[in-house]
Amino acid sequence: MTDCLFCRIIAGEIPVKPLYQDEHLIVIKDIDPKAPMHVLVIPKAHIASLNELAPDHDSLVGSMFRRAAAIAKEHGYSERGFRTVFNTNREAGQSVFHIHLHVLAGRTLTWPPG
Ligand code: AMP
Ligand code: ZN
Repeated sequence: MTDCLFCRIIAGEIPVKPLYQDEHLIVIKDIDPKAPMHVLVIPKAHIASLNELAPDHDSLVGSMFRRAAAIAKEHGYSERGFRTVFNTNREAGQSVFHIHLHVLAGRTLTWPPG
Protein backbone atom coordinates (compact mmCIF):
# COMPACT_ATOMS: atom_id res chain seq x y z
CA MET A 1 0.00 0.00 0.00
CA THR A 2 2.62 2.53 -1.10
CA ASP A 3 0.01 5.23 -1.61
CA CYS A 4 -1.19 4.99 2.00
CA LEU A 5 0.26 7.63 4.35
CA PHE A 6 0.12 5.43 7.44
CA CYS A 7 1.61 2.40 5.63
CA ARG A 8 4.47 4.68 4.56
CA ILE A 9 4.98 5.84 8.16
CA ILE A 10 4.90 2.20 9.37
CA ALA A 11 7.42 1.23 6.67
CA GLY A 12 9.77 3.98 7.91
CA GLU A 13 9.53 5.96 4.65
CA ILE A 14 8.24 8.98 6.56
CA PRO A 15 10.18 9.49 9.80
CA VAL A 16 8.17 9.79 13.02
CA LYS A 17 8.93 9.38 16.72
CA PRO A 18 6.45 6.75 17.87
CA LEU A 19 5.14 7.08 21.42
CA TYR A 20 4.71 3.32 21.42
CA GLN A 21 5.03 0.43 19.03
CA ASP A 22 4.84 -3.34 19.05
CA GLU A 23 4.36 -6.08 16.48
CA HIS A 24 0.82 -4.97 15.65
CA LEU A 25 0.43 -1.29 16.58
CA ILE A 26 2.11 2.09 16.38
CA VAL A 27 1.11 5.22 18.32
CA ILE A 28 2.06 8.65 16.97
CA LYS A 29 1.18 12.25 17.76
CA ASP A 30 -1.37 13.76 15.43
CA ILE A 31 0.32 16.34 13.19
CA ASP A 32 -2.61 18.75 13.68
CA PRO A 33 -3.65 18.25 17.32
CA LYS A 34 -7.21 19.10 18.33
CA ALA A 35 -6.55 18.83 22.08
CA PRO A 36 -3.48 19.10 24.35
CA MET A 37 -3.05 15.35 23.88
CA HIS A 38 -4.05 14.04 20.46
CA VAL A 39 -2.50 10.76 19.41
CA LEU A 40 -3.36 8.13 16.83
CA VAL A 41 -3.32 4.41 17.58
CA ILE A 42 -2.67 2.76 14.21
CA PRO A 43 -2.59 -0.95 13.36
CA LYS A 44 0.37 -2.01 11.23
CA ALA A 45 -1.98 -3.98 8.97
CA HIS A 46 -3.67 -1.93 6.26
CA ILE A 47 -7.43 -1.84 6.89
CA ALA A 48 -9.08 0.98 4.96
CA SER A 49 -11.99 1.71 7.30
CA LEU A 50 -14.23 0.13 9.91
CA ASN A 51 -16.35 -1.06 6.98
CA GLU A 52 -13.54 -3.50 6.15
CA LEU A 53 -13.24 -4.99 9.66
CA ALA A 54 -13.49 -8.77 9.83
CA PRO A 55 -13.92 -11.10 12.82
CA ASP A 56 -10.18 -11.80 12.58
CA HIS A 57 -9.56 -8.18 13.61
CA ASP A 58 -11.45 -8.41 16.91
CA SER A 59 -8.40 -8.85 19.12
CA LEU A 60 -6.48 -6.18 17.17
CA VAL A 61 -9.24 -3.62 17.73
CA GLY A 62 -9.46 -4.60 21.40
CA SER A 63 -5.73 -4.03 21.75
CA MET A 64 -6.10 -0.59 20.10
CA PHE A 65 -8.59 0.48 22.78
CA ARG A 66 -6.48 -0.95 25.60
CA ARG A 67 -3.45 0.88 24.21
CA ALA A 68 -5.49 4.11 24.05
CA ALA A 69 -6.34 3.75 27.75
CA ALA A 70 -2.69 2.99 28.57
CA ILE A 71 -1.46 6.09 26.72
CA ALA A 72 -4.11 8.25 28.44
CA LYS A 73 -2.98 6.86 31.79
CA GLU A 74 0.70 7.54 31.00
CA HIS A 75 -0.19 11.15 30.29
CA GLY A 76 -2.25 11.49 33.47
CA TYR A 77 -5.68 11.61 31.86
CA SER A 78 -7.31 8.41 33.13
CA GLU A 79 -9.34 10.18 35.79
CA ARG A 80 -9.90 13.53 34.05
CA GLY A 81 -11.10 11.72 30.93
CA PHE A 82 -10.25 11.16 27.31
CA ARG A 83 -12.08 10.54 24.05
CA THR A 84 -11.51 7.76 21.52
CA VAL A 85 -12.81 8.21 17.98
CA PHE A 86 -12.79 6.33 14.69
CA ASN A 87 -13.97 8.47 11.77
CA THR A 88 -15.46 6.43 8.94
CA ASN A 89 -15.88 7.79 5.43
CA ARG A 90 -16.91 11.17 4.11
CA GLU A 91 -19.55 12.52 6.45
CA ALA A 92 -17.52 11.57 9.51
CA GLY A 93 -14.45 13.33 8.07
CA GLN A 94 -12.15 10.36 7.47
CA SER A 95 -9.15 11.68 5.54
CA VAL A 96 -6.66 8.80 5.85
CA PHE A 97 -8.08 5.47 4.68
CA HIS A 98 -6.10 3.24 7.03
CA ILE A 99 -7.94 2.84 10.31
CA HIS A 100 -6.66 4.81 13.30
CA LEU A 101 -8.08 5.47 16.73
CA HIS A 102 -7.90 9.13 17.73
CA VAL A 103 -7.21 9.63 21.45
CA LEU A 104 -7.91 13.16 22.67
CA ALA A 105 -7.52 14.59 26.17
CA GLY A 106 -6.46 17.61 28.16
CA ARG A 107 -9.49 19.87 27.79
CA THR A 108 -13.24 19.61 28.20
CA LEU A 109 -14.47 17.99 25.00
CA THR A 110 -17.90 19.07 23.87
CA TRP A 111 -20.76 16.70 23.10
CA PRO A 112 -22.15 16.14 20.59
CA PRO A 113 -19.06 16.54 18.38
CA GLY A 114 -19.40 18.91 15.44
P1 AMP B 1 -9.07 11.24 9.95
O1 AMP B 1 -9.41 12.60 9.40
O2 AMP B 1 -10.00 10.73 11.00
O3 AMP B 1 -8.84 10.24 8.82
O4 AMP B 1 -7.69 11.43 10.72
C1 AMP B 1 -6.46 11.54 10.06
C2 AMP B 1 -5.56 12.26 11.01
O5 AMP B 1 -4.23 12.09 10.58
C3 AMP B 1 -5.82 13.77 11.08
O6 AMP B 1 -6.16 14.14 12.41
C4 AMP B 1 -4.49 14.38 10.62
O7 AMP B 1 -4.16 15.56 11.34
C5 AMP B 1 -3.52 13.26 10.89
N1 AMP B 1 -2.32 13.26 10.08
C6 AMP B 1 -2.21 13.50 8.76
N2 AMP B 1 -0.93 13.39 8.36
C7 AMP B 1 -0.20 13.05 9.46
C8 AMP B 1 1.18 12.79 9.70
N3 AMP B 1 2.09 12.86 8.72
N4 AMP B 1 1.55 12.49 10.96
C9 AMP B 1 0.64 12.45 11.96
N5 AMP B 1 -0.68 12.66 11.79
C10 AMP B 1 -1.09 12.96 10.56
ZN1 ZN C 1 -2.25 1.70 4.99
